[in-house]
Amino acid sequence: MEEVKIPICTSCGKEISPRENATHFLCPNCGEEIIWRCESCRVLGVTYKCPKCGWEGP
Ligand SMILES: [Zn+2]
Ligand SMILES: [Zn+2]
Repeated sequence: MEEVKIPICTSCGKEISPRENATHFLCPNCGEEIIWRCESCRVLGVTYKCPKCGWEGP
């Protein structure tokens, strides 16, 4: 069986279900941390903060 990791939304700390329309990308500042955003944080435009370098973005 394959291990499935549940990603955590960087903005709100919620677990992201595979069915929701979430997004993830590398931190645009340091490029080392993967930023996860759940669907509701995307829709609401909640800012995220990179846990590594502290970069904040919309
Ligand atoms: Zn969220
Ligand atoms: Zn960063």
